[in-house]
Amino acid sequence: MSTKRDSHSRTIGNRMMHPESLMMGYGYRPELSEGAIKPPLFLTSTFVFKTAEEGKAFFELAYGLRKGAPGEEIGLIYSRLNNPDLEILEDRLTVWDNAEAAAVFESGMAAISTTLLTFLKPGDVVLFSEPVYGGTDYLLKHILPRFGIRPVGVLAHGGTAAFEQAVLDRSIRDHVAMLYVETPANPTNALVDIAACAGLAQRLSHAGKRVLLAVDNTFLGPLWQHPLQHGADIVLYSATKYIGGHSDLIAGVALGAKNLVAQIKSFRTILGTMASPMTGWMLMRSLETLKLRMTSQMKNARYVADFLADHPKVERVYYLGHLPPDTAEHALYRRQCLAPGSMISFELVGGEEEAFRFLNALQLFHLAVSLGGTESLAEHPATMTHSDVDPEERIEMGITEKMVRLSIGVEHPEDLIADLEQALAAV
Ligand SMILES: *Cc1c(COP(=O)(O)O)cnc(C)c1O
Repeated sequence: MSTKRDSHSRTIGNRMMHPESLMMGYGYRPELSEGAIKPPLFLTSTFVFKTAEEGKAFFELAYGLRKGAPGEEIGLIYSRLNNPDLEILEDRLTVWDNAEAAAVFESGMAAISTTLLTFLKPGDVVLFSEPVYGGTDYLLKHILPRFGIRPVGVLAHGGTAAFEQAVLDRSIRDHVAMLYVETPANPTNALVDIAACAGLAQRLSHAGKRVLLAVDNTFLGPLWQHPLQHGADIVLYSATKYIGGHSDLIAGVALGAKNLVAQIKSFRTILGTMASPMTGWMLMRSLETLKLRMTSQMKNARYVADFLADHPKVERVYYLGHLPPDTAEHALYRRQCLAPGSMISFELVGGEEEAFRFLNALQLFHLAVSLGGTESLAEHPATMTHSDVDPEERIEMGITEKMVRLSIGVEHPEDLIADLEQALAAV
């Protein structure tokens, strides 16, 4: 008798295993691939049906033409619909957020745009926290309005009250179809209360209309924040960042309840925004070390943030591990986040000139946008990642000329601090 483990078992006896223990094998059956311990790279566009009847049955399920029998799964058809590398990866990704289902995309923006197009239609309002990632900001303010969708921005550091304020206006309240939140916000690490937004989305819902809450969890997830546990409906990622983690790929993920992800996947099939098998394969390799990397990065960031906070040429540090106790933001951090992550922004004494002198003097940190990789990166939000934000709004969001954003990697913390020290001395 076979004693082979069920490829989707998450338990030993009746003990639930931790996500990091499942990343090497979960969802994969070696016996289907010549016993290979790792999933092979399925570089194939299409899949051969055993019989015409089988092909018909697969399509019926894939296109929702009939309900599946108990235990019946959608068979492999064509790699725009499904591919083994993506299916195994999607199963593994559900583990971290304890989600029912996941969909993988060829970029974070593909995940975000496909999800918004799935659930928004002409006449709808999307209420969103500001600042959001630059690409998302452009999608909301310049592309969705062309389809009759109205974006209404709410400043993240205005707190829950700012969201409540926005929906006092009937022309907004009656048409809200989605709340879209990015927390912590980039680059200031301002937090948005996910549970409070979920409550608001629920109050705005009524029979016949369910208002959804989508959360971009790129900065802290999937380890240090779990939006679904706080009432979010959909979690979005740029998997280019921590999940990929090596600055060598572009990818995105959407997670949530099965019925929501099924709707997103049907749009993904038609828009053609799925990830390639190669990207899926690389992400599976990355997931094996996700916890190691994110934990090491988080520890390093604490050393770096403490060093910066004590430095005379540094005016202010934006780091979740330094929130003053006894503040509402600290209480929210304790409710919502499991660790401060590894994104730090800080302001130098001075302005753009001082910030540039600092950036140009760095030796170990690379001067580059993006984040979440094994190597440490530094950039200047006002002239780089956030340069297309309206200058007045930029000031409102707290993005100044003297601000530098750091993404902390896995190098030795003493080397990171030595580099920062010599670069600050050059200012
Ligand atoms: C990078 C990023 C995105 C966009 O992801 P891509 O993979 O570059 O398309 C979206 N949201 C956040 C918070 C990001 O950092």
